[in-house]
Amino acid sequence: MSMSKASVILIVIVLLLISSEEAASIQPGSRSILRAVSRENKAQADYAVDLNGTNFDAVLRNTPAAHAIVEFFAHWCPACRNYKPHYEKVARLFNGPDAVHPGIALMTRVDCALKINNKLCDKFSVSHYPMLFWGPPSKFASGGWEPKEEKSEIHVIDDGRTAEKLLNWINKQLGSSYGLDDGKFENEHLPSNISDPGQIARAVYDVEEATFFAFEIILKHKMIKPHTRASLIRFLQLLVAHHPSRRCRKGTAEVLVNFDDFSPPDIGLPDKQEAVSDDKGMPGNFQICGKEVPRGYWMFCRGSKYDTRGFSCGLWVVLHSLSVRIEDGESQFAFTAVCDFINNFFICEECRQHFYQMCSSVTTPFNTSREFALWLWSTHNKVNERLMKDEASLGTGDPKFPKIIWPPKQLCSSCHLSSNQRENGAGQIDWNLNEVYKFLTGYYGKTLASLYKEMDRLGDEVSDGAIADLVTSTSAVVVPVGAALAIALASCAFGALACFWRSQQKNRKYYHQLHSLKNI
Ligand SMILES: Cc1cc2nc3c(=O)[nH]c(=O)nc-3n(C[C@H](O)[C@H](O)[C@H](O)COP(=O)(O)OP(=O)(O)OC[C@H]3O[C@@H](n4cnc5c(N)ncnc54)[C@H](O)[C@@H]3O)c2cc1C
Repeated sequence: MSMSKASVILIVIVLLLISSEEAASIQPGSRSILRAVSRENKAQADYAVDLNGTNFDAVLRNTPAAHAIVEFFAHWCPACRNYKPHYEKVARLFNGPDAVHPGIALMTRVDCALKINNKLCDKFSVSHYPMLFWGPPSKFASGGWEPKEEKSEIHVIDDGRTAEKLLNWINKQLGSSYGLDDGKFENEHLPSNISDPGQIARAVYDVEEATFFAFEIILKHKMIKPHTRASLIRFLQLLVAHHPSRRCRKGTAEVLVNFDDFSPPDIGLPDKQEAVSDDKGMPGNFQICGKEVPRGYWMFCRGSKYDTRGFSCGLWVVLHSLSVRIEDGESQFAFTAVCDFINNFFICEECRQHFYQMCSSVTTPFNTSREFALWLWSTHNKVNERLMKDEASLGTGDPKFPKIIWPPKQLCSSCHLSSNQRENGAGQIDWNLNEVYKFLTGYYGKTLASLYKEMDRLGDEVSDGAIADLVTSTSAVVVPVGAALAIALASCAFGALACFWRSQQKNRKYYHQLHSLKNI
């Protein structure tokens, strides 16, 4: 055997030994395999989102981000390949569930060398590779760019050749000081939510996130029991008719229609104890607010520390937004549904108990949506007042979002007649309740939904005829005697879904007492 042949064989044997050793250290089904796989995936995963002629409009219309960057490139272009690590370094900060600064800018790329993208690249007059644009996502979705266009909100990024330069350029636009080494919850630039009422529009993403988590918690903790089932159905009814997100109205309608499948009426009987779980019946990955949710981050409700705000903030926003959307005739039903839901399904024990006490102290039924919206507002303020003291003494609050009696004058000056502010910040404020109600309906009504309106204007699609009918009807009649009766009596906008529901429910009836809260 020649010397070179022998050395080749030796190398092969060494390589085999190394790889078999590695394989031996990874036991089938062991965590190390998962780690190895996820390491591999991580190495391959890009932060920037690949767009093409088919998904371009939809992705940009649906992003919660306030700005978008689109890089037009060609995969054969060596300069583009060299630029990719720079672009990725910046995209790490803004994109994906682990984004350091989520919701600020969506970083995307389009490969102009692919035939499918020809029209798209033409629309943006791409003249060289890579060519970067900056602008509001909705403007990308609806339009294009031409070199001589003066008033365009889409701008060419002329100085982004390295990661540092690109981030500098972005910082200049935003007046921010993001750094390439920023870690999560460092160097936060969260916009204040006590001076700009428009900020609440960002919460439309949080109400989706909060709805997802509320139901995930219910399933994970197997909280649907014989005595809690009816209250969940009532809360679902409220969401189907009045959730501010159309996607959630659609998702909750689907849950309601299939409710018996994942939560049989005899659940709770000894042999059915395990019937509701996230791996049986209703799947754990059920998309109650559409396939984009959970996004993994909060927008309006994002705290400046990792353990502040988030879900509980999102839940409050859901409740307030429901309170301003109901009809007068639904106010007592909504009150009962909300109180029962928090009592049965909000897993924070102290919160649940305090809220329930406040619910129980209501003695006269609500006759108007105004009464219910104002009750919820003042109840929330009582919680704020209590937490203001606790958080000040324990230092547990979010320093950027201290609790206040709400709304402050900066948000609604006409809401305040006068105030005798005490030293701890809490106050005996004389409210102009008409103005407060007006403010609440504008804030949690029109303004909260304004981003959706914008998407609708741009032609957002709702699929699935029957359910689409259902979810576009926000004034459906809600009858507080259980899901079957409610859906069956609901307006004809429920269309095919109502018939389907009726046919499913023909032989079943849910009889609930009107004031179930008092019976718990
Ligand atoms: C039903 C419920 C009961 C809770 N009870 C407790 C409790 O007992 N103890 C506890 O430690 N935590 C409790 N929490 C959590 C707590 O209230 C906050 O949600 C949490 O501390 C996060 O606060 P935040 O700064 O995000 O503002 P949040 O209080 O969550 O408010 C969210 C947003 O709503 C707006 N807002 C504030 N006040 C009002 C108001 N009065 N009316 C309308 N809108 C308003 C503001 O824009 C604010 O940013 C409860 C949460 C819920 C949903």
